[in-house]
Amino acid sequence: MTSGWIGVDLDGTLAEYDGWKGVDHIGKVIPRTLEYIRQKLSGGIEVRIFTARASIPEQIPAVKQWLASHGLGMLMVTCTKDVQMIELVDDRCTQVIPNTGVPLRERIVELKAELKREKKTKEYWQLKQFDDEAENALLREFIEKWVLRP
Ligand SMILES: [Mg+2]
Repeated sequence: MTSGWIGVDLDGTLAEYDGWKGVDHIGKVIPRTLEYIRQKLSGGIEVRIFTARASIPEQIPAVKQWLASHGLGMLMVTCTKDVQMIELVDDRCTQVIPNTGVPLRERIVELKAELKREKKTKEYWQLKQFDDEAENALLREFIEKWVLRP
């Protein structure tokens, strides 16, 4: 295992959620999130289920049982963040650019506008076709390289 763990929220992230229906009700699994977890685990990264349900210890067994039914019974269930948490996957979070308070989604909108307006990056001219898909790929690369991990 590499050091650090990824927290994955349960309700609304790994399991469908449309309102509280009791401790024993957990929605249908969301395949894309399940696949993300499997990928991380196979890459040797620890994943923990990060859920407010864990703030009430009596609720944890139902979560563990649900996880086990999806082949994830070995995952830790927690509601505690620590310095080893390297990523959080959650349907309610707003990601900000480190040390700025600027929501990433706002910066993405600005970057898209800048790219369209100025069309001056080297990468832009290297693209044969500057369609939306190419633009999105360029933005993802830019954000990863310059915004999130400068
Ligand atoms: Mg949630």
